[in-house]
Amino acid sequence: MTLLRIENLEARYGAFKALHGISMEIEAGQISVILGANGAGKTTTLRAISGIVDRSGSITFDGVRIEGYRPRDVVAAGIAHAPQGRGTFSELTVDENLRLGAYLRSGKQVAQDRERWLEFFPRLKERLHQQAGSLSGGEQQMLAIARALMLRPRLLLLDEPSLGLAPVITQSLYKTLAAIRQATAMTMLIVEQSANLALGIGDRGMVLESGNIVLQESAERLAQNDEIRRIYLGYE
Ligand code: ATP
Repeated sequence: MTLLRIENLEARYGAFKALHGISMEIEAGQISVILGANGAGKTTTLRAISGIVDRSGSITFDGVRIEGYRPRDVVAAGIAHAPQGRGTFSELTVDENLRLGAYLRSGKQVAQDRERWLEFFPRLKERLHQQAGSLSGGEQQMLAIARALMLRPRLLLLDEPSLGLAPVITQSLYKTLAAIRQATAMTMLIVEQSANLALGIGDRGMVLESGNIVLQESAERLAQNDEIRRIYLGYE
């Protein structure tokens, strides 16, 4: 089943057009990965879905057109966005950040979800009352993802989860994402620049160049593509 269908999506920053009419389909339960060089439009694609940049074209989520939605309505429809640079509230504790993630819901379910996600991120469990701003980069990234999950999204948008993290931390983060997908069948759209781990857990991949999608393939085939390996995976 197609959960998200994007057709002819354009996005602008003032007079500058950052996306030139891209189209893609995201299948429910799959992990899709967007690759591309700096400035290709990866972050802008996620922002356009979330409604935080000027966009045109059509975005259909679970059969409903959402391209006219405001950001909070996109969230309410079931799309959570863990932005690049993490987006946690640094003055608040880990626990407060998690509770804020569930601001659209209340009650017992929230406490159950909190326990559930803390099982996936035990480092956060040990640091529940620590200020988010004093967490390590990897821990902040975990918190941003756990907070997004607290919304009970049906689609999770992840913007460069590996940014600024040591390789071993990135590896463990991707293992956790794979475990979350395994346990919940969560649909994810992941933007990554260093792509081998993302393609390793992904089902589909697409390559953005200067605001256009130039390739869409299974993640496996993309990872075997010589040019992709040379440009995005860092080996011949
Ligand atoms: P990176 O991997 O470096 O994060 P990206 O593929 O995510 O790159 P985007 O952040 O989507 O790229 O940027 C796409 C283009 O839009 C770039 O040319 C960028 O300079 C431009 N752009 C992004 N944000 C703005 C903004 N707020 N105002 C003007 N131009 C912007």
